[in-house]
Amino acid sequence: MPKKDYLAEKLKVYFGFDSFKGNQKEIIENVLDGNDTFVLMPTGGGKSLCYQLPSLMMEGTAIVISPLIALMKNQVDAMRNFSEEDGIAHFINSSLNKTAIDQVKEDILSGRTKLLYVAPESLTKEENVDFLRQIKISFYAVDEAHCISEWGHDFRPEYRRIRPIINEIGKRPLIALTATATPKVQHDIQKNLGMVDATVFKSSFNRSNLYYEVRPKGVNVDRDIIKYIKANEGKSGIVYCLSRKKVEEFSDILKANGIKALAYHAGMDSQQRSANQDAFLMEEVDVIVATIAFGMGIDKPDVRYVIHYDMPKSLEGYYQETGRSGRDGGEGHCLAFYAYKDLQKLEKFMQGKPVAEQEIGKQLLLETAAYAESALCRRIVLLHYFGEGYQEENCGSCDNCLNPKKQVEAKELLGTVLEAVTTLKEKFKTEYIVHFLLGNETSEIQSYKHNELELFGAGQDEDEKTWNAVIRQALIAGYLTKDIENYGLLKMAEAGKAFMKKPVSFKIIKDNEFEEEVEEVPVRGGGSCAVDPVLYSIMKDLRKKLSKRLEVPPFVIFQDPSLEAMATTYPITLDELQNIPGVGAGKAKRYGKEFVELIKRHVEENEIERPEDLRVRTVANKSKLKVSIIQRIDRKVALDEIALTNGLEFSELLDELEAIVYSGTRINIDYFVNDVMDEDHIEDVYEYFKDSETDDLEEAIEELGGDYTEEEIRLVRIKFLSEMAN
Ligand code: ADP
Ligand code: MG
Ligand code: ZN
Repeated sequence: MPKKDYLAEKLKVYFGFDSFKGNQKEIIENVLDGNDTFVLMPTGGGKSLCYQLPSLMMEGTAIVISPLIALMKNQVDAMRNFSEEDGIAHFINSSLNKTAIDQVKEDILSGRTKLLYVAPESLTKEENVDFLRQIKISFYAVDEAHCISEWGHDFRPEYRRIRPIINEIGKRPLIALTATATPKVQHDIQKNLGMVDATVFKSSFNRSNLYYEVRPKGVNVDRDIIKYIKANEGKSGIVYCLSRKKVEEFSDILKANGIKALAYHAGMDSQQRSANQDAFLMEEVDVIVATIAFGMGIDKPDVRYVIHYDMPKSLEGYYQETGRSGRDGGEGHCLAFYAYKDLQKLEKFMQGKPVAEQEIGKQLLLETAAYAESALCRRIVLLHYFGEGYQEENCGSCDNCLNPKKQVEAKELLGTVLEAVTTLKEKFKTEYIVHFLLGNETSEIQSYKHNELELFGAGQDEDEKTWNAVIRQALIAGYLTKDIENYGLLKMAEAGKAFMKKPVSFKIIKDNEFEEEVEEVPVRGGGSCAVDPVLYSIMKDLRKKLSKRLEVPPFVIFQDPSLEAMATTYPITLDELQNIPGVGAGKAKRYGKEFVELIKRHVEENEIERPEDLRVRTVANKSKLKVSIIQRIDRKVALDEIALTNGLEFSELLDELEAIVYSGTRINIDYFVNDVMDEDHIEDVYEYFKDSETDDLEEAIEELGGDYTEEEIRLVRIKFLSEMAN
């Protein structure tokens, strides 16, 4: 029987599959032949089978090194499903007790066990090494092998110990597998595992069923995402955020907006984490909001969208995370929200780390930026990043192909860059080249005397951004490359040399919308919608009327920004009203009824379509700080002491107190005010506010003739507001 049919038969018998996926068959043959094998295959491509099937067919036990304990158990369970023999697969990691380990060892020694999964940290334990030396090993498999490389998206130092330990246990053929395919990571893995001569099997990383899109991240990002999720109701999706805090916050916001969502991050206890993961897998919730802790080994085939609330730290990570959508070959929308300043923030966080690590991190961030800002087909950029060419003119499934960005001819600019790279002997990075072209006399440039070269300052007609864009896009277009050993040094590629001899058209996008500083404003304000002037003015009238009737100043009822927000978002119930800035439950109850009735009438009469369904409800926003302040005031702790223990300036504490009373919570600070101010002074200021048309501080200072300090006035104003309004 020919080998091919024989293998197919084994595949059917052991796993029930009718045919091999991609190049699984060639890979398996190579392993069976006893060669070292390196497999680069995208997530979902079927890497596990590449070692599982040969392990069943070979004599001895295959040692599989895999990073995640949870992942291991799943894999072992899956193998046991294929076999009648429970002992066929085992794992050793820190979660096993002595009895369990003895059972594992017995099964291995009796030859029942074909696959043994080991966590890298267990592999380094002496007793395990001693044991493994006694048994017959068919081969070693290193899964998720990118963990070896600092250039991967999930570096684990213990992975670097694998090779020496394998040497100690006994050399056998090695198969390394990863879905991470940048040339740099590839190189690292092979070098570190001592398998530079391995046969390399690289599948295409193109995921043709995924749609890639990058949107600028503005103040309305929450609303944009909620809108997207609501438009895709019933579908499963993942929202990735960078910080645990953001994960918590945003999952709460989603829940508050009626979306079935749960959080997932490494800071949660493991029980909660797996409960949330299960709820997602079982489709009890639609959305999981997560850090990158959520993902490796998550095998939900029908995730329909992956949203990046924050841009990840590397393009590699981005590819892995987006890759979790559409694993079943169906639709998968990859939507990233990008702001350049997010990446700058990440860069800042790296300060203090070793310089080499910072360099790596910066480079990775730069590549992420290049991707996000590019006008090129997303597919081309991603695949280029993985060292793979993509020839189609229009992929038909990314934002840039469907809505092309405006480009300008940059043939001459490219010529200048290439000339600079050549003149500087291919020994410098982007940043240096840009300084050089701009004619910046940095100390480095001076030390090389490059300011004496003719080309120095040749690019002064363009700005830094443009030169960066030219270089980035020249890299992507393959005119330049980056040195692998000395990462970041710009080198001339063959195409670049050809271009120097015979220039051709080269188009770039010069400007992008990602660099603008957008000021953060609370989403509650209703975002970009305009204030309804008619409604605004009739609400002001109502406020005036109420203020007369209740004998309180108008601002005590609702402040202007609150009215503006109402005239923007049209709340028509008391619940909705509480989403307005400056309106807490107390105020809504006390004054809200007539306002929402008025708004409702106005909306109906004018057939206004309310943005309410698009509007984001925030979570009851009593931050921990506010709660703790209120509790201490209840215990009559002196305000200056409260400020001190919370690390606040006194004026910052007053800010907090103002926010508290303006949103309708009553606090009694008499104990403090009476302590620090004379009774008649308090009364003086109090009376002023009672009669005043405005709560404006500066006006108060002026009116009160400078007799009181700002702090005193603010204190009394807080007392006044609390008593009058709440
Ligand atoms: P990877 O590790 O590359 O992300 P897995 O090994 O987890 O991928 O496999 C992904 C999915 O593909 C699994 O559900 C697996 O059972 C399935 N699979 C693997 N090989 C085949 C095959 N030849 N035919 C059908 N399904 C396969
Ligand atoms: Mg895998
Ligand atoms: Zn495209």
